[in-house]
Amino acid sequence: MMIKFEDGTEIGNKSFVDGESVASGSLDSVRVFDPSTNNVVGEYYEASAEIVDAAVDAATRAFKAEEWRSAHISKRSRVLNAIANRIESDADRIALIESIDTGKPLLAARKEVIGAANVYRYYAGAIDKFYGETLPLSGNLLSMTLHDPVGVAALIVPWNFPFLAIAWKLAPAIAAGCTTVLKPSPLTVCSALYLVDIIKDIDVPDGVINVVLGGQAVGEALTSNKKVSKISFTGSTAVGSAITRNTADRLPHLTLELGGKSPSIIFADTEIGAVAHVTARASFGNTGQSCSARTRILVQESIFDEFEDAFVNATKSIKIGSPRVAGTEIGPLISPEHMVRVQGFFDRAKASGARHVFGGEKPEGLAQGNYMVPAIFTSVGRGDELFREEVFGPIAVLVPFSDEAQAIEIANDSSYGLNSSVWTTNASRAIRVAKSLECGSVSVNGQPSMSENGVYMPFGGYKQSGIGRELAMHGIEAFTHTKSIYLSLES
Ligand code: NAD
Repeated sequence: MMIKFEDGTEIGNKSFVDGESVASGSLDSVRVFDPSTNNVVGEYYEASAEIVDAAVDAATRAFKAEEWRSAHISKRSRVLNAIANRIESDADRIALIESIDTGKPLLAARKEVIGAANVYRYYAGAIDKFYGETLPLSGNLLSMTLHDPVGVAALIVPWNFPFLAIAWKLAPAIAAGCTTVLKPSPLTVCSALYLVDIIKDIDVPDGVINVVLGGQAVGEALTSNKKVSKISFTGSTAVGSAITRNTADRLPHLTLELGGKSPSIIFADTEIGAVAHVTARASFGNTGQSCSARTRILVQESIFDEFEDAFVNATKSIKIGSPRVAGTEIGPLISPEHMVRVQGFFDRAKASGARHVFGGEKPEGLAQGNYMVPAIFTSVGRGDELFREEVFGPIAVLVPFSDEAQAIEIANDSSYGLNSSVWTTNASRAIRVAKSLECGSVSVNGQPSMSENGVYMPFGGYKQSGIGRELAMHGIEAFTHTKSIYLSLES
């Protein structure tokens, strides 16, 4: 069985190594599900350890080949622009595939697909603006820096924003001059397989982009391969730590984009209804399956009750439904197993004595599929798992604070530090709080879309939310070594 979609689109179901689609043995019955029905859409072949090694070997050969290493930098721009062109012309089809594979609403999927095209475009245009420095140290001594591509880069992505997350890694890796082995999540291989079809059609040397399909075992085979010089990983903090441990002996270049437990801080001087509307979507967008989901909502005591009512009403107004129905804002969770995990957080919070304010049940009329009404709790202790741990599903807690100092203290009381929001009409306070938050990004008085705006600014975490930065020019730098050269002009 191939992977076939309702619009008639068919995609391959094999790993892609050295310019060829390759299968390991018999079809291993790894299934592609539509999370809105849990119906099987197709099956794909999981890569064997030999296929993973072959992909790394192909990337190693391609990295050393003159055809890539010595090519004019405009060659890399042309590759990225060609990918962007095809994504833009096939955007509707890729969005449908992504929506079926992930359960995200079609409109959101389309924004991410166009966002991915923008990322390839951005790095196509960034390549010839990313150059080193020179510094005359004395009359006879000139120093300069060069950016060397790191080598073969393993790109490992999760299932929540599959096509966009690939772009965040693949585009800067190619821009830097690396060669790549990409591993999508086993739950969401389809948009990566569509990308394989695009790559087959464009002029890129064999081995520069390879794709291996599978889960933990394939990820371990890839990251433990000694020819891999760079690992760019997005996923859970637990797996990021495991990769760090497993590779400690050879110290590859690492970028880790990990989990989050991001706060929104809402001061009493804001417009409660409007802020509640945006905050509910920042908490429960993508069904809460976002590393940046605002799941700790810190509300100033004087407006706590009023905000709670507004937040419940805003959450009720979020349209849950089939991802392919116009107007749907959130679809199902990714899998039945993930739904059980999220339900576990809900049940334990209720049992622990937290105050359940709203949601958590299956929505009416959506018996099939992994649907859950977003849930809200209050009276959650600082030691409770709902305050501390990433649920990666639609559950948020409301936490009161008295003043600015306490808001900052509660917000920073987390092992994570990825993202946050501040809502206040006092501009000085907004900046003071933003400066004090221990996290990689802060949104003030708004929630800009990362699909549309993400590529222009660096993204990454403090603490256990990660190491390094993706996007903007930092994204290319992450795939390079900086070399200092001292030129003596005496002889
Ligand atoms: P995950 O950590 O389970 O898996 C991520 C990827 O790693 C998958 O491709 C998986 O197959 C692979 N993998 C699993 N075990 C591995 C191992 N031992 N070695 C190498 N690779 C391995 O994460 P997930 O469930 O797919 O995604 C959800 C997580 O991703 C959440 O924690 C979320 O916060 C995080 N995330 C972070 C960002 C960010 O930019 N910071 C963005 C999106 C998602």
